[in-house]
Order: sequence, then C-alpha cells, then structure tokens
Amino acid sequence: MTVSPLSPPNALAAAVAGRLAGIRRRIDEAARLAGRPPGDVRLVAISKTFDAAHVRAAAAAGQIDFGENRVQEALQKIEQTSDLQIRWHLVGHLQSNKARRAATAFALIHSLDSLDLLQQLDRAAEAAGTAPELLVQVDLAGEATKHGAAPGTVRPLFEAAARCRAARVVGLMLLPPLGQRPEESRPWFRQLRELRDTLAAEGTPPGMLRELSMGMSGDFEIAVQEGATIVRVGTAIFGTREHV
Ligand SMILES: *Cc1c(COP(=O)(O)O)cnc(C)c1O
Repeated sequence: MTVSPLSPPNALAAAVAGRLAGIRRRIDEAARLAGRPPGDVRLVAISKTFDAAHVRAAAAAGQIDFGENRVQEALQKIEQTSDLQIRWHLVGHLQSNKARRAATAFALIHSLDSLDLLQQLDRAAEAAGTAPELLVQVDLAGEATKHGAAPGTVRPLFEAAARCRAARVVGLMLLPPLGQRPEESRPWFRQLRELRDTLAAEGTPPGMLRELSMGMSGDFEIAVQEGATIVRVGTAIFGTREHV
C-alpha cells in the first residue's frame, strides 16, 4: 500500500497502524512456533528517510522503539517528536567524534564496533550522567564494505566493557550479507546466537548478553526463530524508501 503525500494524515496513520499490527502478529506467531514466550521480542521501527509524521503515526499505534542510522537525521527527528513517550535507537555506524551527542540522544546504540568508540561513549555518558545501552555489532562475514567488529575482537571488547563506568553493553547486533532469499540469513543469525553462547560459556556475565538484535523487513521471522530479542523493521512498516 502506498500513501501519497496528498493523502490526509489519518490515511497515513491507518496505513502504518495496519502494517504494524500485521508485523506484531507475525513476530508473535514466529515466537510461538519457536516455543518462546510472547513479548520476548522487541520491535524497533526504523524510520530513516521518513519524516516525523511517520513517527507520530507509528507512535499513535502504540510503537515505542524507533531506530535511525544517521546521527544528524536522528537528532532532528528526536527534537521534532520530543513530546512523545518513545525511545530512540541508533542502528548505523557511529563515528567517535559524534559519541558525545549519541550518548545522550539514544537509549540503545546497536553499532559499537571498536575499543576507541566504547571509551568515547563511556566518557561521554559519564560526563552527561546518562547510561546508554550498547550492542556490539559483529561483522561475521568479514565484509570489507561493512562496519562491525571482527569476531576475534569481540571478546576483548566485552572485557573492556565490563570495566566501563556509565555505558553498558547488553548484547550483540548483526547486519548479515544481503541474500537473494530470506532463508540465506538463517546461518548468520544462528552464528550470532552461537557466538553469544560461546561468550556466555567463557564467563561473560548474562546481563551483557541479554539482547540479540537481528532481522529486518525481509527476514525478521527467521531471526525470531533463531533467537532474536530485537528486530529492526523499516520498509514493512513505512513503505519503500525513495533514497538512502
Ligand atoms: C535500514 C536498516 C534496517 C531496516 O531495513 P528494512 O529492510 O527497511 O526493514 C535495519 N537495520 C539497519 C542497520 C538498517 O540500516
């Protein structure tokens, strides 16, 4: 369903509410089939490239968690929707020089991928009196074009995170290689879960491994089957993005 810019605002609200309800049903069904309790999976609505009216439409339908991939764009939308009781996630790459702003703007940052960034975020959070939650983004496929920590650097990152004073690492995030079919994501999702289990077996505290952020519009049900606690869905809620 496409919503033209000329449609009245209530048409946008109805379209977004309908899609959100459908996605929540599919998440619950995937969780049920996997023998997981309902409410085990958090849906983050990825609003990148869509305006504040879209965020309002989703919030009116009960959506609480929203994600953006660019700090600048996010800060603008956060300000435009500051009257709403919602939570903001950063899912895109974060440069160290934006750590200070990110540490105060976001409840959850999905893209921690280096020791340097961890230290910048921790210092910024301590100074600002915030306690942002962080996920270690893992580059399982070794894709040169993608951000994320190489699997071998994940353990030292967790060890350093255990000594942080304000920032709290609470899990892992994955952006797998784009496949032709949703099923192609499954082995990557499984690998992320296995990495979580390995870290747990090696003594990483459970509270630092609580979340697995994986699955997007095309493959979120598979991610839920493989243990996702957070899915990040944009297109299936807001429609096709005209630009990236
Ligand atoms: C854009 C984006 C998503 C959402 O992708 P859709 O296919 O539109 O659901 C999820 N995660 C990240 C990191 C993204 O950048």
